[in-house]
Amino acid sequence: MESFGHVIDGEERMDGASFVSVDPWTQQPWADVALGGAAEADLAVAAARRAFDEGPWPRMGFAERGALIHRLADLIGEHADELATADSRDMGKPMSDALGKDVPRTAQNFRFFADHARLATAQTLPMDTGHHAYTRYEPAGVVAAIAPWNFPLMLESWKVAPALAWGNTVVLKPAEDTPASATILARLACEAGIPPGVLNVLHGYGPESAGSALTADARVDRITFTGESGTGRVIAAAAARNLTPVSLELGGKGANLVFADADLDDAVAWSIKAVFTNAGQVCLAGSRLYVERPILEEFLARFVAAAEQLVIGDPRDPATQIGPLASATHHAKVRGYVENSAGRIVTGGLGEGWVVRPTVVVDAPADSAIVREEVFGPVVTVTPFDSEREAVGAANDSPYGLNAMVFTENLSRAHRVAAQLRAGTVWANCFFIRDLRAPFGGFADSGWGREGGDFSREFFTEPKAVVMAIRP
Ligand code: NAD
Repeated sequence: MESFGHVIDGEERMDGASFVSVDPWTQQPWADVALGGAAEADLAVAAARRAFDEGPWPRMGFAERGALIHRLADLIGEHADELATADSRDMGKPMSDALGKDVPRTAQNFRFFADHARLATAQTLPMDTGHHAYTRYEPAGVVAAIAPWNFPLMLESWKVAPALAWGNTVVLKPAEDTPASATILARLACEAGIPPGVLNVLHGYGPESAGSALTADARVDRITFTGESGTGRVIAAAAARNLTPVSLELGGKGANLVFADADLDDAVAWSIKAVFTNAGQVCLAGSRLYVERPILEEFLARFVAAAEQLVIGDPRDPATQIGPLASATHHAKVRGYVENSAGRIVTGGLGEGWVVRPTVVVDAPADSAIVREEVFGPVVTVTPFDSEREAVGAANDSPYGLNAMVFTENLSRAHRVAAQLRAGTVWANCFFIRDLRAPFGGFADSGWGREGGDFSREFFTEPKAVVMAIRP
């Protein structure tokens, strides 16, 4: 078995308790992982605090810091196979996705945020009173980054990259199901020359474990969390006790609206990607598909045929598009939705082991669990609509508001509908395309705050006003 320790103050530690990470395809343990609790969290936060208060990192120029972050991105590229294997074995993600998408995007995220910070401008505000004011963006301090298991390395980089680029130090707690790539990332950060204590990795569980110890620690200046909405509520409450600013990227139940004037081939292809990528374990999954009635039958026939062609299998096989779900617990949850689904299953259902086949459900009532709750698996409900107004109403009838998709060749309709959708991101005739300068986050139960470009800067810095008198 491979072993993955905490990385605290530049040292990998495997000295205390441990737990195993299970490969969801073989259902066998493949890695031994250090198990942290309050004591290890204390050490990790102390290391990050020291590195922030006394170390060179927050005091370096943007160019020097950026060069080290670019060096880390180079190393991520050089270790792509090792990083992709770690995520694939931890959660059953197809290697082709991990290697072809997640790892390159991770490297790109580090490069983007290093450059964004280096090239950022600040404001100068000439005043009529004989003064001028200008802004400075000071690093916030110690950042606790708590991550989910569905895109382990990539989502960690959305937090770690801007936090580091703006001069903060970090304690990263990966999800307990996907610990390995975070340790590798921290090893590479040390190799890149990023000073000890700047990027620490702490392994463990959430409640009454490493996660809750981090969120309760008053020495932490920012908490950035991605995970379930229920966990988000617990973390927001913990953060409130210390008045620690918190950013929450939470669950979703994406609505995907396909109008009768859509390019059907395009809409089918994107809708398949939108809900079956990563076996549907995507916060942005287009898991509520609404199709205008005149094209319902034809759309459904093509969509089901495409779903049935997806290749299910061993994540290591380059041909595999759908692997097993990430863990026994998660498989049990998704299985529950499939077995108890209101409506009729047109295709899909349970597969071998922890596999759930791409599953299409029709005739599910709008108030049923499968339509309202986040399944987080390869399961989609398909519902007809008769007007634009009805489609927008159905899309917005959700506790979540992370994202939505609209497929139409009518330009005005695309803009009109995008404006009315209560969602942090709206994709028109596409899905999952992201510009890292754009805001990313959710309305309602899908989160607090936004990540991306200047939005990440707002969160990971303390903006300061300096007001200067200009003597006559
Ligand atoms: P989760 O909430 O169970 O766990 C996420 C992380 O929080 C893990 O590291 C876990 O150990 C930690 N944690 C759990 N309880 C905690 C506590 N009390 N205190 C501190 N830390 C705690 O989520 P998950 O199952 O790992 O991830 C799936 C969820 O994440 C889905 O709801 C999905 O929609 C959401 N997600 C959202 C986005 C987004 O950008 N909005 C992206 C990916 C995933």
